[in-house]
Amino acid sequence: MRITKITSHVLQYDMPEELGYSQQFYSKRSAHLVEVRTDEGITGWGECFGPGNVAIANKAIVERVIAPMVVGSDPFDRERIWHHVYNLLRDHGQKGMPIQALSGVDIALWDIVGKATGLPLYKLVGGRCRDRIPVYGYGMMLKRHGDLAGAFADEAAGIEAEGFRAVKMKVGLGPREDIRLVEAVRSALSDSTRLMVDANHCYTTSDALQVGRALDALGVYWFEEPVAPEDRDGYRFLRDRLTVNISGGEAEFTRWGWRDLLAAGCVDIAQPEVCGLGGISEYLKVLALAHTHFVPVTNHVWGSAVAVAVNAHLLTAMPDVPGGLNPWSPMLEFDTTPNLFRDEMPTEPLKIVEQIGQNGGTMAVPDRPGIGVEPDIAFLERYAVT
Ligand code: CA
Repeated sequence: MRITKITSHVLQYDMPEELGYSQQFYSKRSAHLVEVRTDEGITGWGECFGPGNVAIANKAIVERVIAPMVVGSDPFDRERIWHHVYNLLRDHGQKGMPIQALSGVDIALWDIVGKATGLPLYKLVGGRCRDRIPVYGYGMMLKRHGDLAGAFADEAAGIEAEGFRAVKMKVGLGPREDIRLVEAVRSALSDSTRLMVDANHCYTTSDALQVGRALDALGVYWFEEPVAPEDRDGYRFLRDRLTVNISGGEAEFTRWGWRDLLAAGCVDIAQPEVCGLGGISEYLKVLALAHTHFVPVTNHVWGSAVAVAVNAHLLTAMPDVPGGLNPWSPMLEFDTTPNLFRDEMPTEPLKIVEQIGQNGGTMAVPDRPGIGVEPDIAFLERYAVT
C-alpha cells in the first residue's frame, strides 16, 4: 500500500456564546483534520492540536512541508515515516507547530492500519486493559459579565446531573476571586463528585501556592497547569508543598520534552496531548516514559470527534500502574460546552453523554476498525476555512 495524497481540513464556526480561559476569550471554534489517502482506496483521518490561525499555519506545514516527505511511503511504516519527518524538521522546530502538524499525519496512518487489518485502534496499541472508560465533564469557562460564582455553581450542578462523576472548572481572575469560584463550585457538587481546577498557566509560583493551599482545604483532586510549562522549578516547588495533585503537560512535545518534564519531577499526573506531542507513535513512548517514573497518565483531549475517539482507544489500552483490586484509573476529558465538530461531524455520532447518564459516568470502549470516526464530507465542506 502507498500513500497517494495528504490533505488538511481546517474547520471553523462562530460559537453561539463567547467562552474564556485564563489567557483569552474566544468566539470561534475550530478543528484541523488530516486526510491521508492510499492507492488501495483506504483513507485515514488524523487531527492536529492548535486552533484558529495556528491551524491555518499548520495546514501549510502538513501539505507543503510534510506531505512531500511522506507521499509514496507505505502507511504501515509509521516509525520510519515519523523519524524521517522529525529528522528533517529537527533544525526547524523540535517543539510546537511542526510537531502538531506531524501528529495529525501520524494519527491518520494508524487509522489506515486499523482499517486495513479490520482492528480497532486499541487492539493495535496493546489491547483492552479496561471494559469501560470513566469520563469527566469540563465546563465552567470564564465569561466577561455577570455573577460568575453563581453561574459556575449552576453549571457544575448541571454537569453532575447529566451523570458525570468528575468535573473540571477554569480559573484565571486572580487568586482571591479564583478561590471564591472554586468554593462556589465545590459546594454545588455532592461530596462524592471529584473536582479539578485548570489554571492554564496563569499564576506566579507564590500565587499558585496560595490558591493551591485553598484547593488542599477544599479537597480538589488536581490543580492543572498552575504555572508556565517552562517553569519546571515552579512545578517542583508546588509539588513539594501541596497535597493536591499537580497535573500538566498538554504543552509538552515528544519523548524528549517529556523525558525532561518527568525527570524533573514536575507532575503528579501527566496530561499528554496526542494530537500535539507527535501523534500516536510518539504518545506510546511518552506513556512508557511516564509509567517508567510511576507517574499516572490521563490524556489531555481537545477538538473534534477524531481526537475524542483516538483518546478513548488510548485510554482503553492503557495498563494500570501500579495496579491493584481498585487501581488508579485514567479519565476521558469531555468538553460539555457545545461542539459541532465532535457531535455532528461524524457520520455515526459517538453519543458519549447519552452513555454516561446510564452507566455511572463511563463510556463503552470503541469497536469499529481504526479510529472509528468517518467525517461527513458535506459537513467538512460547509465549515471549511478557505
Ligand atoms: Ca488544560
